[in-house]
Amino acid sequence: ENTLFRDIIAHAKEYGFVYPSSEIYEGLQAVYDYGPYGAELKKNIKELWWNTMTRFNDDIVGLDSAIFMHPDTWKASGHIESFNDPMIDNKDSKKRYRADVLLEEKAAEYENSGDQEKADTLLKKTGQLLEAEDLEAVRALIIAEDIKCPISGTANWTEVRQFNLMFSTQMGSVSDGSGKIYLRPETAQGIFVNFLNVQKTARMKVPFGIAQIGKAFRNEIVARQFIFRMREFEQMEMQFFVRPGEEMEWYEKWRDMRLKWHKAIGIASEDLRLHEHEKLAHYANAAVDVEYKFPFGFKEVEGIHSRTDFDLKSHQEVSKKKLQYFDPEIGKNYIPYVVETSVGCDRLFLMLFCSAFKNEEVGEGDKIKTRTYLKLHPALAPVKAAILPLTKKDGLPEKGQEIYKSLKGAFNVVYEEAASIGKRYTRQDLIGTPFCIAVDHQTLEDETVTIRHRDSTEQERMPVSELESYIMKSTSF
Ligand code: ATP
Repeated sequence: ENTLFRDIIAHAKEYGFVYPSSEIYEGLQAVYDYGPYGAELKKNIKELWWNTMTRFNDDIVGLDSAIFMHPDTWKASGHIESFNDPMIDNKDSKKRYRADVLLEEKAAEYENSGDQEKADTLLKKTGQLLEAEDLEAVRALIIAEDIKCPISGTANWTEVRQFNLMFSTQMGSVSDGSGKIYLRPETAQGIFVNFLNVQKTARMKVPFGIAQIGKAFRNEIVARQFIFRMREFEQMEMQFFVRPGEEMEWYEKWRDMRLKWHKAIGIASEDLRLHEHEKLAHYANAAVDVEYKFPFGFKEVEGIHSRTDFDLKSHQEVSKKKLQYFDPEIGKNYIPYVVETSVGCDRLFLMLFCSAFKNEEVGEGDKIKTRTYLKLHPALAPVKAAILPLTKKDGLPEKGQEIYKSLKGAFNVVYEEAASIGKRYTRQDLIGTPFCIAVDHQTLEDETVTIRHRDSTEQERMPVSELESYIMKSTSF
């Protein structure tokens, strides 16, 4: 359906980034495993986000709360009641769809054919009907828009039903259902229930934030588009607690800071846009998505939400524990308002991977060939440098090993001596290694190496003694 996206998925698998989960058993839908280079890239993404939040903002601290939480958490947060997606089945193909996604895709069709007004009207209408939970009218709209199932080609639809996205399991050995607990569908609630613990023990003063990285689980109805929508994924969330009335100011600040961050990690400005929500979640008074232009269109990567005091207030009500803060500056007690930034680590991975994937024509005349490489920001690249002796003799491997050992304490570097130097360069290009260090006969004489730059393929001579500081400088933000 989309050859570029197919190439990206194939590349991710072939070069050790992402595999379908339990592939020898035909895989598990919407669940994926990260290979050696994928695991490194993901780790680098998390580290960068974590450092941005907790190190470059003196008013943000970290947290690592459990996946399992007391079941009342999800009553208070509204997830049991309303963490639903409207689903619809096609009676002929028996395929299940998200009713809202069918309508959004139709709107995108209008937009692509230049009819922006029709697209906007449809989106607005969809939003209104969903907000009113008028599921019959949602079905009527799907039929009126003549939306057909791509598999059966018919518009033979069932009614629309709400489907709760939380996975549940049993805690302990009780079989009467009383031990039912959920796998968290977002990491945010672990932050809310720990709000006072963190505030008191880390001696924080409002405004301050709590950042967390962790797994979340959603029983998504439509599981498509590779790691864009997964059933097990990782979130990086930051809840920023502010004085009531100051939330819009912080909301705008975080929106701007987060957009800047996406540009700083190497995403082109024209591939990013902000999308303000018309339909707000039950807890929000303002919400905006940072969207990236994936090969399948502009889609959400990160959400910035002004959540009001909804969460803390409901937890206070349900738990009967005061979740108030005494603000010494104004001498008042209040429940803080919250502005959150919520980004999916896997979705960020996909964005970076799509944006880095380059297929360029090089050479001239009949010698034109395609060069594929990953133009990842050097700070995120899984392997920072490859040490490559030109030949396997004359003491070059020993010299190469010596350089490799001197660098591996500081960076993820690799040493390779098999195959021609050209083939080894290509292999590193394919996994996005920013520097290849060739060890040749001259190295033995004057302690210099050739350093080849991934993006330009240009080479320069550099003293071995300068390698570490050069790589350090080039691979940091
Ligand atoms: P969507 O509209 O795509 O379902 P959402 O609005 O429900 O997403 P949030 O609840 O705001 O998403 O979650 C915050 C972030 O978590 C999203 O911006 C996205 O990056 C990530 N995320 C949410 N659901 C998934 C998923 N199923 N797989 C991967 N990442 C996800």
